[in-house]
Amino acid sequence: MKLLVRLIHDSKPIIAQVVRDTGVLINVDRARSDAHEGEEALVDVPDESCMLVSERMRSLGAEVSILEEGIRHDEDECVDCGACISVCPKEVFSFDDDWKLQVMTKRCILCGRCIQSCPHAALSLNN
Ligand code: SF4
Ligand code: SF4
Repeated sequence: MKLLVRLIHDSKPIIAQVVRDTGVLINVDRARSDAHEGEEALVDVPDESCMLVSERMRSLGAEVSILEEGIRHDEDECVDCGACISVCPKEVFSFDDDWKLQVMTKRCILCGRCIQSCPHAALSLNN
């Protein structure tokens, strides 16, 4: 499960603290820091530990959103052009033997790069 974690004007390393406190392995998919808006991180946690981790993060002052889906692919709009394949940093997209696009949404880190690359508006983010 993906969690979007926001720390407003606070630079405490809470992810490391939450790992210590809960014993749950947390993978950081991406993170960014802004002097005005604070820090934001997209993290991946096991589904069964999602509530435990998010509640501990909130108790430490973070805003936490649970993101239930990766990229959305509209098969009716897709023309299998492959433009999304090269822009994705996580190799979410590939062709099968019939040159039909395959989408591994579990790998998606919700960066949004592929959305701009699609000429048929077949890709979108739900959250
Ligand atoms: S949002 Fe980013 S990681 Fe997800 S499929 Fe698109 S390019 Fe890949
Ligand atoms: S860029 Fe859009 S139309 Fe082209 S393969 Fe990817 S999802 Fe399909």
